[in-house]
Amino acid sequence: MSQTYCDYCNAHPEDTFNKTYHDTQYGFPIEDDHELFERLVLEINQAGLSWILILKRAKNFRKAFDKFNIKKVANYTEEDRNRLLNDAGIIRNRLKINAAIVNAQKILELKKEHGSFKNWLDKNHPLSKDEWVKLFKKTFVFTGGEIVSEFLMSTGYLSGAHTEACPIFRKVAKARPAWMRVHKSSRVTPSKPKIKSAP
Ligand SMILES: [Zn+2]
Repeated sequence: MSQTYCDYCNAHPEDTFNKTYHDTQYGFPIEDDHELFERLVLEINQAGLSWILILKRAKNFRKAFDKFNIKKVANYTEEDRNRLLNDAGIIRNRLKINAAIVNAQKILELKKEHGSFKNWLDKNHPLSKDEWVKLFKKTFVFTGGEIVSEFLMSTGYLSGAHTEACPIFRKVAKARPAWMRVHKSSRVTPSKPKIKSAP
């Protein structure tokens, strides 16, 4: 299968969940820490599941996780864990719920030292994909290679979210994602976009 996520979304406007995400969020830089945290949690929750399932449940996630308020999630109690484990609107997976809480705590630590999650990402940028994965594995939990590269592509730290032929590519370029701010003598070859699981 050689169809890219862009090809799929542009050919399937009726898949409004994927199409809207592709057109308005995927690859666009995120300034807000809570939104960055949300994207990381959603990517973690996708592991082993289809992206559209996560998109369909994104609203429920936001509600269940206090709009991804990092401090609130970092301070979740056993009671909160049980509430989340029993919430059929999200993904009831103990490890994924635990990862959201632990990673919120990790982000709070990063904020102490770097001011914000965003600052920490900016300070480390640019790194190669492998270096990012190493750093994320050292810093967070449940952050394997696929999750980290998707998170960083989707937030503009790694190139390759959109193909250059995609109409959204130019929109994203206007928003100046981090990967475009790196000036290298040799052209960076975009990594091959991952094909998000189509429904
Ligand atoms: Zn695209």
